[in-house]
Amino acid sequence: MALTFDAEHPDRPHHGDTQTATIETLARDRVQATVFIQGRWAEAYPELARRVAADGHLIGSHSFYHARMPLLRPGAFDTDVRSAERAIIAAIGRSPRPWFRMPFGAGKDQPRLIARLRELGYRHVGWHVTAREWQRRRSTHAVVEAVVDGVTSHGDGAIVLLHTWPDPVANGLSEIVARLRALGAEFVPIDELDLAPGLAPVGPHDDAVLGSP
Ligand SMILES: [Zn+2]
Repeated sequence: MALTFDAEHPDRPHHGDTQTATIETLARDRVQATVFIQGRWAEAYPELARRVAADGHLIGSHSFYHARMPLLRPGAFDTDVRSAERAIIAAIGRSPRPWFRMPFGAGKDQPRLIARLRELGYRHVGWHVTAREWQRRRSTHAVVEAVVDGVTSHGDGAIVLLHTWPDPVANGLSEIVARLRALGAEFVPIDELDLAPGLAPVGPHDDAVLGSP
């Protein structure tokens, strides 16, 4: 299974050190994850971005502006993808290609956008399990249970969507890892999952439910 994290500008208040705590937990618990980095986030937190890359996580792009990409004009779509790539390369010294996660998953079922993304060198990576940890007043306990239940329901090959900034992730990550390992889970980057060539799992939730990813 794969733990994936979107590293992006948060859309609500959180504790300042949350991102660092989450990244340090991954290192301490020896979890290799996949991190989708927003271009603007890489510009704001270049040292954290370098830390993520240095820790051996697989790096993908999470766009530059974190816009709903179906709303962008074609030229703006290309500019956003390329701007994110430049910002990530500037921060960590290598390209996030071919891994890309479209913000909110918006556009994942639009063949024109998926094709254009491919022409730009990327494939969209969705998810199977979310814990809605970006919602206000979502408790750590609820997030932990949602991830464990979701992975258990999905089974082998589960891709879990998490974010680097919400407090429940920083507070609950070690328990998530321990409980899933106790169930036999092995954490790998998404490029080690045995997936179909398209590698675009469709999340169980629609965009209206998803809110913040
Ligand atoms: Zn996002």
